[in-house]
Amino acid sequence: MLEIKDLNVHFGVIHALKGISLTVNEGEIVTLIGANGAGKTTTLRTISGLKKPTSGTILLEGKDITHTSAQERVMMGISQAPEGRRVFSEMTVLENLELGAYLRSDKKEIAKDLETVYHHFPILADRKKQIAGTLSGGEQQMLAIGRAMMSRPRILLLDEPSMGLAPLFVQEIFNIIRDINKAGTTILLVEQNASMALQIANRAYVMETGSIVLSGTGSELMESDDIKKAYLGG
Ligand code: ATP
Repeated sequence: MLEIKDLNVHFGVIHALKGISLTVNEGEIVTLIGANGAGKTTTLRTISGLKKPTSGTILLEGKDITHTSAQERVMMGISQAPEGRRVFSEMTVLENLELGAYLRSDKKEIAKDLETVYHHFPILADRKKQIAGTLSGGEQQMLAIGRAMMSRPRILLLDEPSMGLAPLFVQEIFNIIRDINKAGTTILLVEQNASMALQIANRAYVMETGSIVLSGTGSELMESDDIKKAYLGG
C-alpha cells in the first residue's frame, strides 16, 4: 500500500532522514521504533506531506505522491494523528471529530464513521459536547485518533499514541489500535513503547539517527538481543 524509497529529509544543515526505505502492506500494523530524535516523527510528517523531502520517492498503491499536497493525500486515504494530543482545545469533542471529515461531503457516510469512532471510543460519545481542552490526556489522545479516523483513511499514521498515558490507558489504546486495524485500516505506528508496539505489529523497523538499522516481524525483533538491550530494558 505504501512504499518509501531512499528518502532524504533535511532541516537546514541537519540531515534528519538519511535515505530510508520502508513498505507497509495492506492490512498490516507496521511499527517504527527508535530513540528520541531518530527521525520517526519526521518520517510520518513526510509521508503525510507536511514536510518536503530533499530526495526520494513515496508511493501510495504504486502511485507517486512525493509531490502531492498534504490535503490531496488526505483525500487519497492517508491520515495522521499527531503526537502530543493536538486537538482543537476550545472546540467540543464533536466539533473536533467533524473537522476530521472536513474534506468529505458524503454526509450519510460521515455519520456512519462517527458511530464507528464512538464504537471504538465510547467515552467520546459520552463527552461529545465537552470542550476538548478539558478532557484528560488519555481522552484527548483518543480524540486525536478518532479525528484522524473521520477522514476514513486507508492508512492511519499514529505518532506516539501511548505518550504520557497511565499504564491502564496505554493497554486500552493498544487494544483499540488493534481493533481499528482488524476493522480494515492499515496502520503505521510510531512508538517509544517498543515492547507494546512490537507485540501488536506484524512488522517493525528500527530507526537510529536518521537511518533504518533493523527490520523484521514484531516477534523476530522482540527476540533480538540487540533490541532487548536497547529498547526492551534487558
Ligand atoms: P522523538 O521521539 O523525540 O519525537 P523522533 O524520532 O520523532 O524523536 P524527529 O522529531 O523526527 O525524531 O527528529 C529527527 C531529527 O530532526 C532530530 O535531530 C530533530 O532535532 C530534527 N528536527 C525535527 N524537526 C525539526 C525542525 N522543525 N527544525 C529543525 N530540526 C528538526
